Amino acid sequence: DYDYVYICFNNTIMGTHYEYIPDTGNIPLVADISSCVLSEPIDVSKFGLLFAGAQKNLAPAGVTLVIIREDLITETPLAGTPTMLSYKTHADNGSMYNTPPCYTIYVLDKVLHWIEKNGGAEGMYKRNKEKADYLYDFLDSSDFYHATTEKGSRSLMNVPFLTKYSTGASDEASLAKEKEINDKFVKEAAAAGLVNLKGHRLVGGMRASIYNAMTLDGVKALVEFMKKFAAENA
Ligand SMILES: *Cc1c(COP(=O)(O)O)cnc(C)c1O
Repeated sequence: DYDYVYICFNNTIMGTHYEYIPDTGNIPLVADISSCVLSEPIDVSKFGLLFAGAQKNLAPAGVTLVIIREDLITETPLAGTPTMLSYKTHADNGSMYNTPPCYTIYVLDKVLHWIEKNGGAEGMYKRNKEKADYLYDFLDSSDFYHATTEKGSRSLMNVPFLTKYSTGASDEASLAKEKEINDKFVKEAAAAGLVNLKGHRLVGGMRASIYNAMTLDGVKALVEFMKKFAAENA
């Protein structure tokens, strides 16, 4: 009896990702693909609606991508839905019902051309897989660090990890040591030019977000830093 099923295709916070598209039969599947859009090919025909904020893989913040099945556009929205929040309004007005953020769209155009030139979604997937494998292989072989996610549901975009000082013990001394090491990692990484590595507050530890714009060389630089940090703090 559900009207729709909603999933977050790539969970930016937990670093998890669907490696398959759930089969919901006739019930429309709705997905947030903000943090994995154009990082890999995706069969949009399996979804009723997909949406993504531009700010991770597409363009600066300010524009949102929506891919919606025709029959879901024409369906009458819930009574009381504001005109501006009806997908039909935007579809009927060429996505220009309001004044669109022109500069963001201009940059989006540049990014889409760059993606096309680099092999499209398939090309992005190859790049991203190589980057993510490099980092996960290092984490899996390390006795200082470990990934927090299981093989089979790992994100290619967001890689959370912990050190051996995250033992799960909740006594004060263990927690203090864990915090000290994590803070030290984030601070020293930033000093080495590797920024934004603090984990989300819900997960703690560290998180490397390696979106389309990140290069394999960038990931290699991170791993080199991680090796050095592990040697100094073992
Ligand atoms: C980043 C992100 C959003 C958008 O969050 P903002 O607060 O607008 O940055 C939504 N969903 C997912 C999955 C995201 O990764």
